Amino acid sequence: MVTALPRFAPLSRRKIVFRYRWHGLVGPESAGSESPPAADWAVPQDMKIHEYQAKEILARYGVAVPRGEVANTLEEASTVARKLFAEGASGVVVKAQIHAGGRGKGGGVKVARTREDAELHAKNILGMTLVTHQTGPQGQKVQRLLIEETAAIDRELYLGIVLDRATGKLVFMASQAGGMEIEEVAAKTPEAIFKETIDPVIGFGAWQARKLAFALGLKPAQINPAVTFLQSLYKAFIETDASLLEINPFITTKDDKLFALDAKVTFDDNALFRHPAIKALRDTAEEDPLEVEASKYALNYIKLDGSIACMVNGAGLAMATMDIIQYAGGSPANFLDVGGGATQEQIEHAFEILLSDKNVKAILINIFGGILRVDRLATGVVAAARNLHITVPIVLRLEGTNVEEGRQILKESGLNFQVGATMKEAAELVVKAAASCS
Ligand code: GDP
Ligand code: MN
Repeated sequence: MVTALPRFAPLSRRKIVFRYRWHGLVGPESAGSESPPAADWAVPQDMKIHEYQAKEILARYGVAVPRGEVANTLEEASTVARKLFAEGASGVVVKAQIHAGGRGKGGGVKVARTREDAELHAKNILGMTLVTHQTGPQGQKVQRLLIEETAAIDRELYLGIVLDRATGKLVFMASQAGGMEIEEVAAKTPEAIFKETIDPVIGFGAWQARKLAFALGLKPAQINPAVTFLQSLYKAFIETDASLLEINPFITTKDDKLFALDAKVTFDDNALFRHPAIKALRDTAEEDPLEVEASKYALNYIKLDGSIACMVNGAGLAMATMDIIQYAGGSPANFLDVGGGATQEQIEHAFEILLSDKNVKAILINIFGGILRVDRLATGVVAAARNLHITVPIVLRLEGTNVEEGRQILKESGLNFQVGATMKEAAELVVKAAASCS
């Protein structure tokens, strides 16, 4: 993502705000009046796909991409390389497929001039743990490769389409500083990124595409093809309900052709219900295992790196709970919205997920009983605490329907729950409990 556009301060919070975008911020202009069915919640925030999948989609919209195929094994990699050389490629590039950028710098993109070299690179990259500025220090295991014909690169440029949350409009960005980390360009030389704001009613005008093509300093013969190229990208973005599209690098070749050499596309998960083919491209091997587990039970869970687990019903209350934990001097281990109508089974699964995070030192349950009555929640919590032999301290703050009955159930359970009278008190109790455990 480009830093020149407004962003929410800590990354974790931004991740959550993205997830809850439909709560009122801005949605894709194309979303119309359809709203997502509740069952479709169980997908991660903006769904990512692999480069090879993004290129397949873009190719269908007429975007030029290098010839190539995905390979899941060394044998497949060898077959694809052999085929590309047989078809006249002067070289092939072996590219790690992970849901993160910066692969080139991390050693996940290698050019080979012979099939033997391609096989060697494939052997080195497949199965490696690739560390890039986007994977975090733990890296990401490479399970797939994209083998492509190399291009005779003349210039490496940048193209991107993102939503500007300040104006609620899409922005088409272009820069001559392609190939490198665009975040750095945006931070150090924002004037090197040209932007065209797109009116949602009019769409992306040919004149805007032309302006960007000139700003990229393209040759006269490349201008018209570039206009078509940019328009195809925009069409693909809109029709797939994408939330981000980046071509970095967008290249020109020595014989003046244009190609998307890399492609990153993410999709608005709230619109995925109307794109089953795209939804099927989800690769859970690339996602946080706990988040995948949570999505199976329709729990909205996002792992964070603090020590206080929270279980809350309602996204707004969950955000407020994380804030008040921080206010009390602690740090949340996760965001978890069990939803308005959580069942006992869901609550048990939620506990399992919270407890499989080794950083968790205490749990704060903050529930406003509306649809989910407090006595039912309390029954669920007591059952889960018994069944799962929970030993970490649990602090609760309960309000709403049947709150007295709920408190009674907790008291009669004989288990060691602490109850805070207010959110503030509960947060202070849980921070103290976590501190005494570490
Ligand atoms: P990223 O590092 O994850 O963004 O992966 P990219 O697909 O952008 O590849 C990184 C860099 O590898 C590009 O900026 C190019 O310089 C280089 N690269 C990728 N494909 C080719 C190719 O076909 N030929 C050549 N010569 N270089 C390539
Ligand atoms: Mn790239």
